[in-house]
Amino acid sequence: MTVELLTADVQPGFVEKTPLELYVAPAKPSLVGMTRAELADALGTIGVPEKQRRMRVQQLWHWLYVRGTQNFDDMTSVSKELRVVLEQSFTLARPEVVAEQVSADGTRKWLLRLPSENPGERPHEVECVYIPDTSRATLCVSSQVGCTLTCSFCHTGTQRLVRNLTAGEIVGQVMVARDRLGDWPGGVKPTDGVVPDGDRAVTNIVMMGMGEPLYNLDAVRDALLIVQDGDGIGISRRRITLSTSGVVPMIERAGAEIGVMLAISLHAVRDELRNELVPLNRKYPIAQLLEACRNYPGASNARRITFEYVMLKGVNDSIADAKALVRLLKGIPAKINLIPFNPWPGTKYECSDWDQIEKFSEVVFNAGYASPVRTPRGRDILAACGQLKSATEKLSARERIALRAMAMTDDDE
Ligand code: SAH
Ligand code: SF4
Repeated sequence: MTVELLTADVQPGFVEKTPLELYVAPAKPSLVGMTRAELADALGTIGVPEKQRRMRVQQLWHWLYVRGTQNFDDMTSVSKELRVVLEQSFTLARPEVVAEQVSADGTRKWLLRLPSENPGERPHEVECVYIPDTSRATLCVSSQVGCTLTCSFCHTGTQRLVRNLTAGEIVGQVMVARDRLGDWPGGVKPTDGVVPDGDRAVTNIVMMGMGEPLYNLDAVRDALLIVQDGDGIGISRRRITLSTSGVVPMIERAGAEIGVMLAISLHAVRDELRNELVPLNRKYPIAQLLEACRNYPGASNARRITFEYVMLKGVNDSIADAKALVRLLKGIPAKINLIPFNPWPGTKYECSDWDQIEKFSEVVFNAGYASPVRTPRGRDILAACGQLKSATEKLSARERIALRAMAMTDDDE
């Protein structure tokens, strides 16, 4: 009997969850997340003459992204007739907040439901986390529902269903956060939790929620260009960080097309260990990844690349690992961000002991790197890095074992 092996371009031991869930656009689309060109086209479909479109787009942009308007009727600079026609064909919808949790440390987590037009399909959910500090406040935004990758220490990686978010759903997370934080002109800030002093409740964005942003580059680019736009939300690209597990062929495009700060989820200094922690490493090993970092457009001493390193007890936290890490990053304008592992139910890993994290950090610091240890925030509400996963989409233990077993089997080929 001939056994046909599924070879495709799958790397040994590298298994991704496929296929992606389909997105079906609602009959009445939201204007949130459309680029200026898409807005102009949308206006074209409802009969706005071409020569007026630029001006109308400018008006809509202002109402959407400076005022945070949720009703067409409030757009007083837009003619009444046009408001009526807009209302008939479009919405200003953002993802719906189904739950909001506030941590003892002021971190907020929103569970957001994405409308689904697929008959019979459950609506998808994503999480978005707000991490306030005294002088800045960071919004951690998701790029996908779940993630096709299966990093062994990450809770999101255990989620079964995966769908790319649209640009509207990505920008929508920022809009929802600002709605809830009273962060529009005339808005009322919440009294529970912490919102920083100053006039902006969201000052920084990190693409570090659920999903691999470079597997959804076009939507992430459109969304982040909207968030950066100076006539709208206006968060500068230096205050936006995109974190990737290392999708090497997309790194250059991210730099050239979005221009935001880059963070790399490195987590290991040897391919053998990184293959296990970040299975994508089997496709794009460390040397290739670091080469892409060396070529990242705009990387300089003033715009360093952040290397994230999760501290896993007895796995990657030895002093020898710390020394190897600084050797590895030589010549790259880098910052090293040590992340205490955030445990989640069922994980086999433990967080390194605090004194080990300190020793590790000292080696990195003595080599000349700033080595902030990322203080875990919102752990009590499972809002910390890698704890995100929507409760409705859990991968059963059996499915997870099957997935990991597939990875092992491939490994042995
Ligand atoms: N997919 C992207 C971005 C989302 S994950 C990426 O992997 O970079 C954001 C960061 O959280 C990554 O550095 C990821 O490795 C880290 N992370 C995942 N699970 C974690 C956990 N349980 N504890 C601490 N950090 C975790
Ligand atoms: Fe996906 Fe990032 Fe989690 Fe890996 S760490 S499974 S790439 S979200």
